[in-house]
Amino acid sequence: MEQLQEFFTRETPRMAALADQIWSLAELRYAETASARLHMDALAASGFRVTPDVAGIPTAFMAEWGDSGPVIAFLGEYDALSGLNQQSGALVCTPSVDSPGLAGHGCGHHLLGTSAHFAAVALQAHLLASGQKARVRYYGCPAEEGGSGKTFMARAGVFDDVDVALTWHPGSFTSVFSQTTLANIQAKFIFHGKASHAAHSPHLGRSALDAVELMNVGVNYLREHMPSDARVHYAVTDSGGLSPNVVQARAEVLYLIRAAQNHEAAELYERVQNVARGAALMTDCKVDIVFDKACSNLLQNRTLNQVLYAKLLAEGALTVDAGEQGQAGRFQATLSKNDLDAVSRPLASVLRGQVPAVFEGVAPYDPAVNEILFGSTDVADVSWITPTVQAWVACYAFGTPMHSWQMVSQGQSALAHAGMVRAARVLTATAIELVNRPELIAQAQAELLERRQGKPYECPIPGDVPLPFLRT
Ligand SMILES: [Zn+2]
Repeated sequence: MEQLQEFFTRETPRMAALADQIWSLAELRYAETASARLHMDALAASGFRVTPDVAGIPTAFMAEWGDSGPVIAFLGEYDALSGLNQQSGALVCTPSVDSPGLAGHGCGHHLLGTSAHFAAVALQAHLLASGQKARVRYYGCPAEEGGSGKTFMARAGVFDDVDVALTWHPGSFTSVFSQTTLANIQAKFIFHGKASHAAHSPHLGRSALDAVELMNVGVNYLREHMPSDARVHYAVTDSGGLSPNVVQARAEVLYLIRAAQNHEAAELYERVQNVARGAALMTDCKVDIVFDKACSNLLQNRTLNQVLYAKLLAEGALTVDAGEQGQAGRFQATLSKNDLDAVSRPLASVLRGQVPAVFEGVAPYDPAVNEILFGSTDVADVSWITPTVQAWVACYAFGTPMHSWQMVSQGQSALAHAGMVRAARVLTATAIELVNRPELIAQAQAELLERRQGKPYECPIPGDVPLPFLRT
């Protein structure tokens, strides 16, 4: 273990620099070419065998080291978010001149992917030193944000021979990621009508925009009659042009439908399609429905959660100096009371009325509690195929919301780097425990079979849906 301490100390500057570089690149879904390349080159230099273009996705890859023993996979991400470009360290929302385009790392995936990479090479170092056997894998997973990269990878079978998968997510507190997440389906509804002069010959026109509006009204009535934990969101992606005096011949709306279980999301999607067909009938338009992407609900694995929790406790509190505390406090001061309440409420028993600038400890894990995180992740699809475990690790001022400019601004801070290293150490310690005690892997796999109730994984993206970047 001492050797591993030295390894982390020695390699931390290199990994922090890698995360900073990926932060600066801020590449969007399926366009993470340079970020993926940085990971691939560094893993190849560490002796990993790199397979590019996994599942036919140019920014997805797999890197493996070792040739026998259990397959232990670390899942890494590196995609950014559109519209969140931000100057590093700024305490106000200030778009950066250094960041190309308008993207920014508003979900901390530059830290996520680098820490998982760090854990993979640390596990390799441990295996080399101990002589123990395992196949260490790093999956470079693109397009978590709005692209379901892992779900497309899962559809291609790339996780099928994995024994156990580990990952984490940066946040503003530290705990086991013990919530389930919602399944989702995203689809485009493209309405086709007939253009005409809106004043001279309106009777000859058929408005595709009317169809979009009626579809949205119909779906808003549907909300009353759907499960209370389901969610439906939409964005009008083509309103049919800028001229009110032309009846809009084409209009398009993008829907994101979420529900607790895959089958519920599929049922709700069917009802939303019926509303669209109804809107087309009402307006004498035609509708094309294009399935875009989907992901599953997350399956928790209590066996692995308990191993991870023990390692989080063993790793101990995050220690940050007064300077980092002060800086975190200044970021926290930019948040609203509601932002802070949203994070503080579930942690009330730990916080005892105090709202820290930095959450240094570990929130308790109770296997009996089943909570839903009202969001979705494509890690869920991996969790149906192989036992999967995730941690939340504090990298930002306590209360910092996801997808905010504050998250982007803090992405290269000392606190972000400290959290990234802490996550890597915990993931490595968890993996070592699983190598030392293979019965835990067997137990985690038995638990997964039980949760699936004997059913195989069914990818929620049908086989004939092309990869998003291949569509015309
Ligand atoms: Zn994220």
